Amino acid sequence: MVTSPKPQPEAPVPEWISRFVADIPSAVALFDPEFRYLAANQRWLNSFGIVGEQLIGQPHDQIDPPSAPILMELHRRALSGETIEASLPGDGEAGEGGTHRIISTRPHRDNQGTIRGVIATLRDAMAIATDKTLQYATDALTGLAGRHAFMARVRSAIAPESGARRAAAIFLLDIDNFKGVNDLYGASIGDAVLRVIANRLLAGTRSRTMPAPRGGEFGAPQRMDIVSRLGADEFAIILGSAAPSPADAEVFARRLLQLAVSPVLVGEQRIRLSANIGYIITTEQHRSEDDAMRDVDVALQEAKERGPNNVKAWEPALTSTVGRRLALLDQLRCALDENQFVLHYQPIQRLHDDRVVGAEALLRWNHPSDGLVAPAAFLPVLEESGLIVPVGCWVLRETVRQMQVWQMLYGRDLLDWVSVNVSARQFNDPSILLETLAEIRDSGFPLSRIKIEITESAVMRNPEVTRSVLSELQELGIRIAIDDFGTGYSALGAVRDYQVDMIKIDRGFTARVDTEDGRELVLAMLKIARIYGADVVAEGVETVVERDFLRRSGCGYGQGYLFAKPMDGSFFGAFALTHLVETGDAAD
Ligand code: C2E
Ligand code: MG
Ligand code: MG
Repeated sequence: MVTSPKPQPEAPVPEWISRFVADIPSAVALFDPEFRYLAANQRWLNSFGIVGEQLIGQPHDQIDPPSAPILMELHRRALSGETIEASLPGDGEAGEGGTHRIISTRPHRDNQGTIRGVIATLRDAMAIATDKTLQYATDALTGLAGRHAFMARVRSAIAPESGARRAAAIFLLDIDNFKGVNDLYGASIGDAVLRVIANRLLAGTRSRTMPAPRGGEFGAPQRMDIVSRLGADEFAIILGSAAPSPADAEVFARRLLQLAVSPVLVGEQRIRLSANIGYIITTEQHRSEDDAMRDVDVALQEAKERGPNNVKAWEPALTSTVGRRLALLDQLRCALDENQFVLHYQPIQRLHDDRVVGAEALLRWNHPSDGLVAPAAFLPVLEESGLIVPVGCWVLRETVRQMQVWQMLYGRDLLDWVSVNVSARQFNDPSILLETLAEIRDSGFPLSRIKIEITESAVMRNPEVTRSVLSELQELGIRIAIDDFGTGYSALGAVRDYQVDMIKIDRGFTARVDTEDGRELVLAMLKIARIYGADVVAEGVETVVERDFLRRSGCGYGQGYLFAKPMDGSFFGAFALTHLVETGDAAD
């Protein structure tokens, strides 16, 4: 017996009651009001994996901490007169049919009706009697339900063996870049963070359970919410109650998100995380747990795309959108293998003498049946899938190849430089980009003739990473242009800090130089660029009025349909050559 400061049970349980309890063919335990064991049979011990412990008189939280929070809550509620049924973390999928650990608790009253303790029973506990099964069912790190237990619960929620199919509410929470936490603080702090989040979710969801019906122990049993850890940093929650209204589900999802992302204090460290949640209220079309989990994952992917810290409900249209996106991704992989990508080049003109000095390489997809496809239709998929990394390398190599072809055909360099667009995704793992550039340099091509355009919003998304990659690029001799300037969060600091070579005023501003405000904005940008010594290209120049204003205002370069639309490499060669002849700048 363990000595305990708490009051001792009123009287020892008579021997015959202990034997009676031992012989009951399911797992049973009797607790006193202090959550200490008065009696429990072997089946109960087996189902918690309790071996050789002196049980009687000890509180359950010392015997099996992972299951304690839920049991304690059930115990508390049983003491107030409720009869409750819940799935335990550690719900098992043991046995052919996939049994669950359903625990029921009810008050134990004396002859006067005073509650003296709590009776707990576990259904199907025999089927999960081994330690091995318990490990399988419970996440060792957090004590939450494991994947198999969770899936079993989803199955029983949406397709119960008896009764009509019912809507279930399932929430899937994914923490962003958890690997970064492990890398930065070490795995043991990472583990501690996961445990904190698990506990918060547990606390947040248990309080969300429906209040038990008034009227005592014979009320309908209530199921509790289940929190599970499905992957390293992925948590899932299924509500035990009937599915909430869409508005309530949204509020609940936002609350879960708040719980997960509020800063975690581990020792001295205050760790900030971001996360996203996808959730679903299942419909008739979700016939299996796999259907439900596939769609909640679709919602999560959507949330992530608009993340961080975003919440997205599943809706039928999402599944078809994602289906289409996957098909497109397949086609794009194929396009890269089968050389269906092409580059078009749009001239960049010096405004004071109209000379074509540079060009921007723009990606096109020469689709076998749809013809030439513009990047807006496929770039998002390339970026989100990471396929932009190999495609981006192809763009660089192809640009260099084209410049060498022009040089061979015309016996001179038509252009001072060609700009290549690089997306933020390529900066996440810059080694591939840097290796490609090093290869190009080693082949003898001067990297000063390549400019890399990165959008203002990409620069600001991750300023630290951008800073280090840009400086490595600059060491290689690459020049940097900030694209779509003025559209993102202000990258004024970036112009100074990163010593960019050029800013490209977004065409939205160019189009507004017919207004006073528009002109003021463009003048302000020109001034900023001048202060930091950066060249300026105005994008999207479409009219003579725009060009003349820009020219008068000292904008160095222009690009836009007024001068030329993007064209393929051979057209561009001819265009640039004629242009050189026209401006009297042709070679000897
Ligand atoms: P961007 O880098 O800002 O490129 C300029 C876009 O404006 C091009 O669209 C170009 O065709 C269009 N444009 C040029 N002049 C005018 C004009 O006078 N009026 C109008 N309305 N539009 C004009 P495009 O080729 O459809 O490219 C769209 C965006 O796709 C590019 O914007 C760039 O961000 C991205 N992109 C293109 N190629 C690549 C690539 O190889 N890699 C990456 N990562 N992104 C690329
Ligand atoms: Mg660009
Ligand atoms: Mg642009």
